[in-house]
Amino acid sequence: MPKPPFALISDLHANLEATEAVLADIEREGVKDIVCLGDIVGYGPDPDKVVDIVKRRAAVVIAGNHDWAVLNKPHGFNPLARNVIEYTRDMMEPKLYHVFGKTRERWTFLENLAAVIQDGDLTYVHGSLRDPLMDYCFGDRHALWNPAQLDQIFPKVKWLCFCGHTHFPTVIREDKVCWYPAEGRMEHALDRGRKYIINTGSVGQPRDGDPRACYAILTGEAVRYRRVPYDIEKTRGKILAIDAYEKVLADRLQKGK
Ligand code: ZN
Repeated sequence: MPKPPFALISDLHANLEATEAVLADIEREGVKDIVCLGDIVGYGPDPDKVVDIVKRRAAVVIAGNHDWAVLNKPHGFNPLARNVIEYTRDMMEPKLYHVFGKTRERWTFLENLAAVIQDGDLTYVHGSLRDPLMDYCFGDRHALWNPAQLDQIFPKVKWLCFCGHTHFPTVIREDKVCWYPAEGRMEHALDRGRKYIINTGSVGQPRDGDPRACYAILTGEAVRYRRVPYDIEKTRGKILAIDAYEKVLADRLQKGK
């Protein structure tokens, strides 16, 4: 299990350009280990390549709801996401002749992802400790902010619980004080005597209004967010070229919404 400093990436969503830009930034920051909090696939055009990168580079990998849906059934997904899941499954599911090789290896890798990993007082999950795959844990800036939900989750948190799923970089303290990174204040100190839920934001489909890829570094006594520009137009072009993908999936990358 990685020890600080290490990087946390989530919701890559088959966005190769964003993933490569983030990996280059992690390298520039001199950080070696990576934890991936799920949703490697879905929405984006390069699921196989992004799975290969995560498989090679991440020390810890958690299953996201999109990863699960590709293997199983896309229940609870809107048509937009469902079409992408079907497309991704067609592309990635091994055929009878794929006994060995990369296609089989990627599938087996996805099948073996854990929903929750506990490492001492650190927890890794995609959604929340109430429902690891599906539960959205938003901060107080969001319409779906649910303070009562936190009363169910925090007793299960030992110190830091890292999650993704909402695509909003957020630090939620046990006393329900929320903090959001912004230009010029990207770091949040972590007190040993308090518990935190830390959403690391989204690499491949940010939704907080900043289109740059988002990830976080746990330095030990603080979490530091990073925003990384990438070639959005290249990813957009690939999405627009796939019939099964709606145009809105390409356009939202420009807005970060
Ligand atoms: Zn996601």
